[in-house]
Amino acid sequence: MNKKKVVIIGAGPAGLTAAYELLKRGGFDVTVLEETKVVGGISRTVNYKGNRMDMGGHRFFSKVPEVNAWWDEMLPMMKRNRLSRIFFDQKFFDYPITLKFKTLKNLGFGTTIIVGFSYLKSAIFKRKEKSLEDFYINRFGKKLYSLFFENYTENLWGRHPREISPEWGAQRVKGLSILAILKDIIGKKFRRKNRKVETSLIEEFLYPKYGPGEMWETAAKRITEKNGKIIFEAKAAKIKRSKNNAVAAVVYRKDGKDFTVKCDYVISSMPVKDLVAAMDDVPEKCAKIANGLPYRSFKTVGVLCKRMALSKERMIPDNWVYVHDRSVRMGRFQIFNNWSPYLVKDSKTVWLGLEYFCDEGDDFWKMKDKDFAALAIDEMLKLKLIKNKKDVLDYHVERVKKAYPAYFDTYNQFDVLRKYLDKIPNLYLVGRNGQHHYNNMDHSMCTAFEAVKNIASGDCEKNNIWGVNTEKEYHESKK
Ligand SMILES: Cc1cc2nc3c(=O)[nH]c(=O)nc-3n(C[C@H](O)[C@H](O)[C@H](O)COP(=O)(O)OP(=O)(O)OC[C@H]3O[C@@H](n4cnc5c(N)ncnc54)[C@H](O)[C@@H]3O)c2cc1C
Repeated sequence: MNKKKVVIIGAGPAGLTAAYELLKRGGFDVTVLEETKVVGGISRTVNYKGNRMDMGGHRFFSKVPEVNAWWDEMLPMMKRNRLSRIFFDQKFFDYPITLKFKTLKNLGFGTTIIVGFSYLKSAIFKRKEKSLEDFYINRFGKKLYSLFFENYTENLWGRHPREISPEWGAQRVKGLSILAILKDIIGKKFRRKNRKVETSLIEEFLYPKYGPGEMWETAAKRITEKNGKIIFEAKAAKIKRSKNNAVAAVVYRKDGKDFTVKCDYVISSMPVKDLVAAMDDVPEKCAKIANGLPYRSFKTVGVLCKRMALSKERMIPDNWVYVHDRSVRMGRFQIFNNWSPYLVKDSKTVWLGLEYFCDEGDDFWKMKDKDFAALAIDEMLKLKLIKNKKDVLDYHVERVKKAYPAYFDTYNQFDVLRKYLDKIPNLYLVGRNGQHHYNNMDHSMCTAFEAVKNIASGDCEKNNIWGVNTEKEYHESKK
């Protein structure tokens, strides 16, 4: 049988899922092009001298049975409890903010009263939601917003929430609000079966023993066992089209040379901006939109230390902590021991991941590893995460480019670009940066499932792929 040739760009969760699904169906010759030396993309795990770093902390959680079955087929995972708090003013607050006595005590009586009145005001005088700032104020009131959302959001995106589309809030915090929090508190007392819980409140998740990379390394192994080809350090650099507008071949660059792979279909999980830049004859308007799509990147330093100073124990119990103290640049820190003890080589040490948001190529991004680590360790001392520099045993720096597709600049014209790309009959855009959509691993996988279904049925339709992760509410319970 003449197999259909499929080129998949990117060996992250979306690309690997597409490859595995095509090979399982049979009748496809699959080549995955991966720019780096490793699989997993943003969901990779880096092994530094036996200590493993998860780039940002990846919870495995999905309401889609197909995704859970897929993970199950690949790997047994551990069930973990989530604890993530906000660190502000040398005190811990629940994340998302809860209205228990401790929160109010930490805020102080005066601030609590202001928070209450400002929430009431925002509940009565609802703002028209033109920006992320409006979105937050409508749900939390101005005071709580200014304490817990304004600075953190600006640090994360490098833009004030006033400049960011409210759509990001709808994606990220879904139906979360003071009301949702109150309902959750009441719900805990009168817990019913099949209760609905907002995504940001999900408290249990699955996690591979050796981090998310273990999932994607296993998937890659299964793909090669099924005769799928993964070419590493192969950057897709040119998308060649035939006269009928369809993609005819992908040119990739490896070791300074160009190689051409002819194909019947292309599934792309590479950033839309780069994909369009690799195409010829794109209308000027579409090229401009693609070129203006913004992303946020981050740098992270794994810090191995003897103990933390914030607790009588060796470390605090959180998986990760949001840092809202604006006297430092740090955005969050992970405590990898609490994600999985198997991530840490010596259980008598604490393995932390400090995260800093920045733009790819800016001064912070380019800062030498040793200077960046020194800055981060100084901030640990400032925040009193450690008592003494001597508590630091080792460190390792990683850069994660285009970690967050951002919803500003030309994003509001994305539909025009999408319409143009959708007309290329054999090109399917999947994943997070592939769709410029704030997709988690499970959503990214679902876009791959949909693309494979369409290819297998000979369907050039794309709406079902774009339809993933667009529902207004995202609940833990199955529909
Ligand atoms: C801080 C952080 C925390 C997160 N936490 C969670 C979580 O708890 N749970 C969850 O489900 N999700 C989480 N996510 C989201 C998750 O990381 C992504 O949804 C997922 O990795 C997206 O998969 P993908 O395959 O679409 O893209 P990616 O992971 O970005 O993979 C794309 C791949 O394509 C390759 N590539 C790019 N350009 C080219 C090119 N030109 N040629 C060849 N290859 C190319 C890249 O090297 C990469 O390997 C988190 C993300 C971040 C940033």
